[in-house]
Amino acid sequence: MTVDDTTQVTQATQVTQVTHVIEGFREVYGRAPDGVWAAPGRVNLIGEHTDYNDGFVLPFALPHTTLAAVAHREDGLLRLHSGSPDVPGAVVEVRLAELAPGREAGRTDGWADYPAGVMWALREAGHPVGGADLHFASTVPHGAGLSSSAALEVATALALNEVHGLDIPPRELAVLCRHAENAYVGAPTGIMDQMASACCTAGHALFLDTRDFSQRQVPFDLAAHGLRLLVVDTRVTHAHSSGEYGQRRAGCEAGAASLGVTALRDVPYAELPSALDRLDDAEIRRLVRHVVTENERVKRTIALLADTSSVRAIGPILTESHASLRDDFRVSCAELDLVVDTALAAGALGARMTGGGFGGSAIVLADESAVRPLTAALDKAFTTAGLPAPRVFPALPSRGAHRMA
Ligand code: ADP
Ligand code: MG
Repeated sequence: MTVDDTTQVTQATQVTQVTHVIEGFREVYGRAPDGVWAAPGRVNLIGEHTDYNDGFVLPFALPHTTLAAVAHREDGLLRLHSGSPDVPGAVVEVRLAELAPGREAGRTDGWADYPAGVMWALREAGHPVGGADLHFASTVPHGAGLSSSAALEVATALALNEVHGLDIPPRELAVLCRHAENAYVGAPTGIMDQMASACCTAGHALFLDTRDFSQRQVPFDLAAHGLRLLVVDTRVTHAHSSGEYGQRRAGCEAGAASLGVTALRDVPYAELPSALDRLDDAEIRRLVRHVVTENERVKRTIALLADTSSVRAIGPILTESHASLRDDFRVSCAELDLVVDTALAAGALGARMTGGGFGGSAIVLADESAVRPLTAALDKAFTTAGLPAPRVFPALPSRGAHRMA
């Protein structure tokens, strides 16, 4: 597949998607939407499990998006419908005035929590947002570590923002979406996913400081360098992932407290050996070492990307990140390790798990010419291991959330 083919396929797919979501809206609500908004999923190039340690992340937006077709209402009702085959097809209806987190009356349930939570967060922050009908269609795989949840939230937020003329800037929308996911849905995620979906730009990765949300677009034009980033969705999610996530978070907080810092981001890389000496607990030492070295790897990656002749050299840093997540942070799993080991043996420049871990997706940096043999090698390795074939697709850094129609 050439560079141009990739672009054309994506654009053609998006046009079809928009027509489809408008038709879907008409079928469900019997009227035309006011507009269609898109928000992408993301992969994180590097900076894993750093976003709840006030650290650095470097995600980019996928060409895969969630579309929201939306029309405003004047009667204080919120109605939600998704065309995704893996969620119930009924319209979820709730009165705005009754929206509340927890188990109170007016609470939504399941997938509808994400968009309802966004509406709740907007209102809780004092924004004069009224009722709406929303219908969603998505090409972001669910539960694959590619952040379909943030795509759903950000598409909702952007749509409500424009339909109700709220004029909230994208960064603030991302913060409200994270609040929805934390406080309404009840998932204790960091800010990376929502910020990536809301703020990324095509051809760039987003360097985000998760302490103060300052950010910079870092040119990451893979295509211009004959490179591809393969996303490899293992299609597995290990059931214990959310409990393990909470434990890692708690361990990082305990490490920061023992070291007398606000967050592990405050431990300078040069002081890592002395910090480790001050920690008695071997488990906490490993967590601290991962977070501090990972923040340093983000900085090294950015330094390499600043010089167009050294883009390929980020490969080994990605692989180092994987080793740290596997051995120190211990959030990898057999399937993710299989992707990384197979890809490296088949000529990848670097590879690592991306997202929370315990399943989900890995990324593989490779020359464009290596994409086919790599995909074949991954298929073969998974078949030999008795696992279902992974879903593999090349991803060029794409546009963040925007209006489509
Ligand atoms: P990830 O964000 O990695 O895809 P999550 O578990 O955080 O995984 O979010 C996945 C959940 O988000 C789905 O199970 C579903 O409830 C909801 N979701 C995401 N996209 C959609 C969509 N287009 N329609 C309905 N629900 C969706
Ligand atoms: Mg998610």
